[in-house]
Amino acid sequence: MQPAAAALHDTFGRRHDYLRISLIERCNMRCTYCMPEEGIPLRPRAHFMRQEELLAIAREFTELGVRKIRLTGGEPLIRRDADEIILGLARLPVELAISTNGILVDRFLPTFRDAGLRKVNVSLDSLRPERMAAITRRDYFQRVWDNIALLRREGFELKINVVLMRGTNDDEIADFVQWTASEGVHVRFIEFMPFDGNRWDLSRTVSQAEILERVRERFGHDAVQALPGAANDTARLYRIAGTEGSFGIIATVSNPFCDTCNRLRLTADGKLKNCLFSGAETDLLTAFRAGADIRPLIAESVLLKKRSRGGMDTLDRLSDPALHTDNRSMVAIGG
Ligand code: SAM
Repeated sequence: MQPAAAALHDTFGRRHDYLRISLIERCNMRCTYCMPEEGIPLRPRAHFMRQEELLAIAREFTELGVRKIRLTGGEPLIRRDADEIILGLARLPVELAISTNGILVDRFLPTFRDAGLRKVNVSLDSLRPERMAAITRRDYFQRVWDNIALLRREGFELKINVVLMRGTNDDEIADFVQWTASEGVHVRFIEFMPFDGNRWDLSRTVSQAEILERVRERFGHDAVQALPGAANDTARLYRIAGTEGSFGIIATVSNPFCDTCNRLRLTADGKLKNCLFSGAETDLLTAFRAGADIRPLIAESVLLKKRSRGGMDTLDRLSDPALHTDNRSMVAIGG
């Protein structure tokens, strides 16, 4: 068997100690950039990891060296046994984090506390209720806003995720940055990325360079300070001088950070993806149900990881629809 210490190293010297687990591929929002307009086909429950399967598979990853698990989805908090899963994962030697749309966060605060889960990322693509309703095709602005305030009051490590799309919400860059400056919040701008059914085209992605330019125009060149990042950060971090908050840019499209990638993804149906952009998947759940040792499968998937964006290493390749039609929509991957 693959020695545990080597199992999560790939051929480019990257060590993978961060696993993102999708709890469910359904969501209580319908974000235009994430879910195809027609939705995704519903599949029988048997296709998805049951709680005990998810916990056992997660344990295998921790034994191979995973030290951080982020729960995602779909919307992880709409899974009926989300509480039990969170508490079950808390027994593993990992740091737990979650990405959520924020709608149900208030109900889960006791669970987060009991599980020692401190890191919560909430998606909020607009500071304007009507616009957020148009982007998410649901009217939940006030609930999300109240839950953001609640998380802040309760001292959680909160980050706000904003997917920027030209012509949709890119006129709010300065407003979000002003929010970081006046309230000390931490905002991450995410470049709009291509996935199945989301009508991406490069002209709608607002690049890192352009985001910075707009912030400098509004706040002044010298006011925008770069901050040091941690080793595997996906975001380049900045702050407005003299303020407590920060904003980051996750430039997957214009300036990818694949060299330091330490992430693996487990979909709700138990497939391992070694990259967000990789169409190739390794079916861990079927093997697990058959009683097989899944560690060699995990090791093999890691060894097959490509250097950059699942092989779409250039912008031309990323923009070629033929190259990303074999990937799923984001809602079924777990961003
Ligand atoms: N429902 C949860 C949430 O709202 O965070 C977790 C799942 S969601 C797929 C995870 C993250 O992926 C969110 O921050 C979302 O904005 C981001 N995302 C989804 N589709 C995207 C796309 N096409 N480009 C960039 N980010 C995207």
